[in-house]
Amino acid sequence: MRYDVVIVGAGLAGSTAARILAENGKKVLIVERHKHLAGHCHDYRNESGITIHTYGPHIFHTNNKKVWNFVNKFSEFHYYQHRVLSYADGKLISFPINRDTLAEVFGIQLATYEVEPFLEKEVKRSKFNDPPMNFRDVVVSQVGERLYELFFKNYTMKQWERDPEELAPEVASRIPVRTNRDDRYFADKYQGIPKHGYTKLVENMLDHPNISMLLGVDYFEIRDSLKTKLTVYTGQLDEFFDYAYGKLEYRSLRLEIKTIDKEYYQPVAVVNYPNDYDWTRITEYKYFLNEKSDKTTVCFEYPLAKGESYYIVMTEGNMDKRDKYMKEVERLEKTGEYLFVGRLAEYKYYNMDQVIEASIRKLQDYSDNI
Ligand SMILES: Cc1cc2nc3c(=O)[nH]c(=O)nc-3n(C[C@H](O)[C@H](O)[C@H](O)COP(=O)(O)OP(=O)(O)OC[C@H]3O[C@@H](n4cnc5c(N)ncnc54)[C@H](O)[C@@H]3O)c2cc1C
Repeated sequence: MRYDVVIVGAGLAGSTAARILAENGKKVLIVERHKHLAGHCHDYRNESGITIHTYGPHIFHTNNKKVWNFVNKFSEFHYYQHRVLSYADGKLISFPINRDTLAEVFGIQLATYEVEPFLEKEVKRSKFNDPPMNFRDVVVSQVGERLYELFFKNYTMKQWERDPEELAPEVASRIPVRTNRDDRYFADKYQGIPKHGYTKLVENMLDHPNISMLLGVDYFEIRDSLKTKLTVYTGQLDEFFDYAYGKLEYRSLRLEIKTIDKEYYQPVAVVNYPNDYDWTRITEYKYFLNEKSDKTTVCFEYPLAKGESYYIVMTEGNMDKRDKYMKEVERLEKTGEYLFVGRLAEYKYYNMDQVIEASIRKLQDYSDNI
């Protein structure tokens, strides 16, 4: 069979592209290195009937109605609002910061209108560089030293193995602070978990007569035999160019998954451990789909310097290399024969909805230009 398009990778970036192209009458071949679909949001049901997210907990959340409508074509979504607690000072504290957090940390009850002035006072009595020169400055300038020390400092040290004062300010984003008692982790309009899992959602996306798949095959081993007009690449950026400008660094994780003989382990799906133990957080999977079982399965996350590529590392060196690779990408995309999209191909931190949005946009621009 002859194909119009080869897509490298069956994660959300590749699968979204495949579906759109297939619906536009293109014959698509997906080449995926793993033997499973869905890339980083792969999941499976274990022997206790609990859905496990293979690469760590994934919660779908978006404000983009177009993306929400798109994913809902391939799966119903279970209503789920994500809640996280942080284990600090020997107790479980509401997180992200909201009025309950402030009550627990400072022992004061504030009204909504008192939260901002309270935090302003906290910031005023703290020391930091203004404008911010590093991660610590960004956080302290928003919430003050006490909350920074309790929730952010050691978590960041564990996650990145670096002092927050050595990390670029861009690594810290805006710290969400709720002036009410809303303790949901995400404030997006649309949130949920695919009822039958992410893998099933991707399977449904790829269930189209114009889509064929090669699983367990590395693109680089067969690329010379593939003659198509277009290649959509969602693999690692540096690998595509044979590391010409050097390797791009990633942080990794060791996930320790344990099934325990009791109904529940913790009161919410995720508990962060900023200051104690070596793990950063524990996820209890059954909360996501409200699955019932006498047993429960939990996942301890330990940050690692090397291994499966999880998080990009935003150092100046990596960002310089990225710029060089992206110039090559621009050149190739101009030929109309290649598109690069996704967290690996763009060396960019993307949430799932952002990857889908990027993939839709790339194909739109592509079809506008041909
Ligand atoms: C721990 C963790 C938790 C997260 N939690 C959330 C969350 O709660 N909510 C959220 O929205 N997002 C979350 N994300 C982000 C989310 O995982 C990504 O946005 C999304 O999965 C990226 O999709 P992708 O298609 O770009 O990449 P991937 O899913 O990595 O897909 C790329 C695919 O390409 C394949 N590939 C690579 N090279 C080759 C090759 N040479 N030949 C063949 N195949 C190849 C890979 O095997 C992979 O399957 C989380 C990420 C992490 C790390």
